[in-house]
Amino acid sequence: MSSSPSPAAPGPQTPALDGDATPAAATPSVTPPASPTASNFGALGLLPALAQAALTHGYDQPSPVQALAIPQVLAGHDLRVCAQTGSGKTAAYALPLLQKLLPALEAPRAARERRATRVLILVPTRELAQQVGEFIYLLARRCADPLRLAVLYGGVSINPQMLALRGGAEVVVATPGRLLDLVEQRALQLDQVAHLVLDEADRLLDLGFAEELQRVLALLPTQRQNLLFSATFPAALDALIAGLLHEPIHIELSTTEQAAPDIVQRAIAVDESRRTQLLRHLIETEGWTQVLVFVATRYATEAVALKLQRAGLHAASLHGELSQGKRSEVLQAFKDRSARVLVTTDLAARGIDIVRLPVVVNYDLPRAAADYTHRIGRTGRAGASGLAVSFVTAAQESHFRLIEKRQQQRVPREQLAGFEPSEVATPEQATGGIKGARKSKKDKLREAAALAAARAGQS
Ligand code: AMP
Repeated sequence: MSSSPSPAAPGPQTPALDGDATPAAATPSVTPPASPTASNFGALGLLPALAQAALTHGYDQPSPVQALAIPQVLAGHDLRVCAQTGSGKTAAYALPLLQKLLPALEAPRAARERRATRVLILVPTRELAQQVGEFIYLLARRCADPLRLAVLYGGVSINPQMLALRGGAEVVVATPGRLLDLVEQRALQLDQVAHLVLDEADRLLDLGFAEELQRVLALLPTQRQNLLFSATFPAALDALIAGLLHEPIHIELSTTEQAAPDIVQRAIAVDESRRTQLLRHLIETEGWTQVLVFVATRYATEAVALKLQRAGLHAASLHGELSQGKRSEVLQAFKDRSARVLVTTDLAARGIDIVRLPVVVNYDLPRAAADYTHRIGRTGRAGASGLAVSFVTAAQESHFRLIEKRQQQRVPREQLAGFEPSEVATPEQATGGIKGARKSKKDKLREAAALAAARAGQS
């Protein structure tokens, strides 16, 4: 490899590729003929190299969202894709976009020395940046070897990312804040971006990221393909989305088309003070091999994990105040199954792919109904079945009813022997409801900055 990719890359994956060191790797001209299964992807218009790369990655046939989106991306359309989390959306945009880059990658080196950024993939969290970067890295190694990929996110030193960008990168996966920092430092330019992807688009479009997103958009050419993917598109974002997309194709997967996720939902009524004991009880009596537990605060992630550890369970906590190195380490330990329980905030609610995660527990309910969808979507991924258990205290009963209403599904309340609740809701709690997503400190800062900028613009 002619560049030193690792600093911009997610941990060990080092996804900056350069063909010089691995000339024998697959390109369309040297790829073996596609097998009959690879041709399922081929039938969508993908070249044999890409279809074969998907197959080698273990994708026997396209998922519904891939079957619908890939031909449209190849045709150059703008897309608004509403697909459940875990439906295979990363490949739905990555495969066709890599194909679009292939001709440029095959051009003589001299002609593409500057490595202009052609594909920009924006994601809301560092973990998702790492995950998407890792997938594209693996894919590109099989079919577009000379590709240079940069994965850029905050929470780690900026200098290695600047160094890694010296030769440019055709594909950039980034969180908006760090991307803007690097543009300001002149480490990369975005004036040749031809394809923009917003992964977890609803999050990127909401107020928390609005100002940063507008600044990124202002750096892009107006002529470009825009691809929006999300599990939820709140109506409040319609106007914003309409302004962003040009004659878009809407892809909306109905529940039947998605086939998965096959998630059983349970709701257990319990007193607030008994929840950790109930969690332990369920892990032990129901033999949960792995469980992702959502709580409301950073403090609670640590407190609950500690209690479980004291009870002899391999439990870890994950939250936004940890260093990026620690965050990656904890998530990896959970993915490797060396931790059985991961107690986290909504930080891990979106996009994160934990293969065959059997159970998700809402120890605290999410404030926003959309977050419920994202949280339970961590299980039941890629055709597997999953279980989502919500603990419902008397104080949260009315809130859970609103979540049920928003997702148009009633979940029967259970009571477990030995954990029958005795608390009753106050009149205020009994009429309480969803108050919208809890804002992170970072979101509050972002909003304040956006407001200040808007006021400065008015004066
Ligand atoms: P994503 O929605 O992109 O995060 O993908 C969710 C999970 O589905 C990941 O574990 C993928 O590796 C897996 N996946 C995506 N597409 C396919 C496919 N066509 N066949 C089998 N697994 C897939």
